[in-house]
Amino acid sequence: MTTSPRIAVIAGDGIGREVVPPVVELVDTLLRHDGVTARWTTLDWSTERYLATGEYIPPGGLELLAGHDAILLGAVGDPRVPDAVSLGDLLLRIRRHFDQFVNLRPLSSLPGVTMPLRDGAPFDLVVVRENTEGEYADIGGRVHAGRPQEVVVQTSVFTRAGVERLLRFSFQLAARRRGVVTSATKSNALRHSMVFWEEVAADVAKDFPGVEYRHVHIDALAAALVRDPSRFDVIASSNLFGDILADLGAVLMGSIGAAPSGNINPDRSQPSMFEPVHGSAPDIVGRGIASPVGQLLSAVLMLDHLGLADQARRLDGAVRAALASGDAVTPDLGGTADTGGACRAVARVLGAPV
Ligand code: ATP
Ligand code: MG
Repeated sequence: MTTSPRIAVIAGDGIGREVVPPVVELVDTLLRHDGVTARWTTLDWSTERYLATGEYIPPGGLELLAGHDAILLGAVGDPRVPDAVSLGDLLLRIRRHFDQFVNLRPLSSLPGVTMPLRDGAPFDLVVVRENTEGEYADIGGRVHAGRPQEVVVQTSVFTRAGVERLLRFSFQLAARRRGVVTSATKSNALRHSMVFWEEVAADVAKDFPGVEYRHVHIDALAAALVRDPSRFDVIASSNLFGDILADLGAVLMGSIGAAPSGNINPDRSQPSMFEPVHGSAPDIVGRGIASPVGQLLSAVLMLDHLGLADQARRLDGAVRAALASGDAVTPDLGGTADTGGACRAVARVLGAPV
């Protein structure tokens, strides 16, 4: 366990600046109460900074992050800057630099929240998405541009090392959960990449006799996820498939504002990064109604990753209890709470007023 974790905080843009400060305060109070002193480094890496200086990350910024155990991020994005620039300059650079090859996307039903699935059973699953290669390898090109015979090629890249480490992480996670890995595939149509994926998965599965393993074609899997998400524990998937499944799952939770994520390198000498799935939400900035739940559940993932499993479990429980009471349910989730009120409700459950 990390007794004095060093945490870099990037609130970023839009509602990131509204939800990050109260969440940091809440986590800090929780940790202090347990005798853990986190060392927080607040970084003003944002679109404002980009517009003033031409860069999101200042010189030496990645080296600065390297001295931390984790990064807690709010949101990045601004209507004045194309997404490709903000995401590319900040998020993707950090992900690549620290080889955060797992995109962890836990999805669970939340008490007290209006969910889109009628009569849906409670669910609790994790999409483990490959974060560095696959369909997003960015290799390709076009010939005869603009002509009738134009041809465009976009190549997927799957390496044995890349697929194996993703699957190994998925099985290890399942072994600590309910022991079921479902691998997203499409080997009947993608007869090179997905056949390979299944081979590697079957190999890794041999090392985890206690974990049940199955693979399901992505089209059927998407349908099954909507029909009954409670059937799933860990879903291991490529970059593209995981991207789609995780967003679908976030909608099933009731609001994109409630879904957390982690960009993880299991090698703890490199910092992992935790951020809500939502963006900067320019349409609600300044109104104080952003849900802090995605940010709070991202902090839960971060605490767990830092070896503070007990604090992670208590914070998770407090978020759910506060939602169940109605006091933390913001308008996007069907309630009337505001950001500050939601955080105070969680703090009350924890017995640590902030
Ligand atoms: P960005 O360009 O940064 O990705 P965006 O507007 O494209 O921003 P989101 O920020 O994810 O995408 O917002 C999508 C919708 O969900 C918006 O209507 C937004 O208001 C809503 N939303 C997102 N996050 C929250 C939240 N935490 N609380 C309440 N509503 C949210
Ligand atoms: Mg957007």
